[in-house]
Amino acid sequence: MKLLLTFSRKGRGDPGREPVIARVVKETGVLINVEKANIDSMAGEVLIDVPDGDAERVQRRLEELGVSVRVMENAIVRDEEECVDCGACISICPQEVFSFDEEWKLRVRSERCVLCGKCIQACPHGALSQQG
Ligand code: SF4
Ligand code: SF4
Repeated sequence: MKLLLTFSRKGRGDPGREPVIARVVKETGVLINVEKANIDSMAGEVLIDVPDGDAERVQRRLEELGVSVRVMENAIVRDEEECVDCGACISICPQEVFSFDEEWKLRVRSERCVLCGKCIQACPHGALSQQG
């Protein structure tokens, strides 16, 4: 399951200045896969992937350490009314989230998404958006 972590880095005690992910891995024994990280001097946003059965435990511990956690069940959302199954999103996605099924309809495996945003920009019908 994907979890989107956000934290500020304004003060010395903020989680953005502490190795919180490493700490949670050490404490829980859960292997955390970091899929994307945007961190600057003021704030951080990190997308992690954890085994479904461990997600609640990891989320709870991260929140205890001051990290804001959002569960990304469907990271990328397709508006079926707008989608015309053109396939433009298939080639641009680095994670192979999109494919055609046997009837040439778009299939979306959003659990693979790392929120790079490329498909949202590429879709000519504005059918794709990030989970709000
Ligand atoms: S690019 Fe947009 S319209 Fe085309 S298949 Fe993908 S979601 Fe549908
Ligand atoms: S946001 Fe990036 S990884 Fe996610 S579906 Fe779109 S192109 Fe693929």
